[in-house]
Parts: sequence; structure tokens; C-alpha cells
Amino acid sequence: MDEMLNNYLVKHLPDTEAWVKELENQAKIDHVPIMDPVGINFLMQLIRLNKPTKILEIGTAIGYSALRMNEANPSSKITTIERDDSRYEQAVENIKKQHKDNVIEIIHGDALDELMKLANKGEKYDCIFIDAAKGQYMRFFELSQPLLEENGVIVSDNVLFRGYVYDPNFEHPRYKKMVEKIRAYNEWLVNQPSFITTILPIGDGVAISVKKS
Ligand code: SAM
Repeated sequence: MDEMLNNYLVKHLPDTEAWVKELENQAKIDHVPIMDPVGINFLMQLIRLNKPTKILEIGTAIGYSALRMNEANPSSKITTIERDDSRYEQAVENIKKQHKDNVIEIIHGDALDELMKLANKGEKYDCIFIDAAKGQYMRFFELSQPLLEENGVIVSDNVLFRGYVYDPNFEHPRYKKMVEKIRAYNEWLVNQPSFITTILPIGDGVAISVKKS
């Protein structure tokens, strides 16, 4: 992404409270990949506009994005799924510390199983946010479809992954497979007949998929 543009946008973001800065520092120290500042502010703005009653997040990490989504619309009920033990524990602690455990429910488990369980229970969400293992995005999206309300929206993060996804000359053994998977996901996503998708060069790349009515 354009570093100069990103710096400019970051400089013009709304100020944050101390707890937000603390969580951002905690993530930096522990190398936890939370949403970047421009991306999370965009997601928060989307939530302010849409005011979803129920949000489902796939990939809690330490609870940062769940807490920021709650900040954007405190009346949204948020369910978030995390499979990693230590991150789950940290998320529980961080969410309790902000007294949000009554509106943010964390499910400890693999989203591939948990999404099916939620569908079997007949749960529905107005907004589903996919931010977990990049190689499984297609599966997450497929499993999310029965959980989505009419006029619901699915947001996928990191779809331009560091700009590598749209760089035709990208060659990096470490990220080659992941980038190929994200490219395949984007191609597949924009061709989903029941959704209209827009990919935005915001943060690490955000795809907004709106269910056709
Ligand atoms: N949304 C978080 C934020 O911005 O604060 C960041 C999430 S981080 C990018 C991705 C998280 O998804 C990791 O903590 C990882 O353990 C979790 N994860 C990856 N695959 C998963 C799966 N299949 N089920 C549940 N969690 C998963």
C-alpha cells in the first residue's frame, strides 16, 4: 500500500481512549495481528452507519476488534470465535476489563465447527466479519451464508494482503501460498451470484459483500 497515503490517513483518524492504545501496544509487543488503524476505523464507520443488531466475528485474537466494534455501536450484540487457547484467555480478560462481557460473547473453538453449530441453532447475524486463517476464507464465507440475515453484509479483511495480492511481480516463498489463496478467494468472491462485492484498498484490503435482495 502507499505508505505516504496511509500515514496521512492515520494522522487524520479520530483520537482513541487509553484502553485502545493499551490493547494496540499489547498486540504489538506480543506480535498479535490485529486490524490496522485505518481498517478498523473504516469497519467502525460501517457499523455506525448500519447499526447491526447482531455481529459475528471470525477471529477474535485478543478482543481488540470486537471491543472497537462495540465502541462504534454499543447496542450491537457481538459474538466472536477464537481457536487459540492463549488468545482466547487474553480476549476474555480484555473484554471483562472493559465490562463488555454482557454484550460480547466469545466462543472458544474452531470456526469451521462453531459456524455449523450456530447455523444448527438457527442463529442469524446482520454483519459477519471474517478475519481468521486466510487459507480458509472461502470455507468461512460458505459457512457464514446460512447465518446471514436478509440484507446482511459479510466483511472480509486482508484481501489485498500488504499489496502483494495485486502485484503481478510478487515473489516471496514465505507468503506465496497465502497470496495465491487470497487471489483465488477474491476471484471467487466477486463471482458469487447471491452477493455484490466491492474490494476497497483500505487498511490491508477490505471486501464488502452485500447479499442480493
Ligand atoms: N480480529 C482481530 C482484531 O482485529 O483484533 C484479529 C484476528 S487475527 C488476524 C486472526 C485470529 O484468528 C487469530 O487469533 C487466530 O488464532 C484466529 N483463527 C484462525 N483460524 C481460526 C479458525 N479456524 N477458527 C477460529 N479462530 C481462528
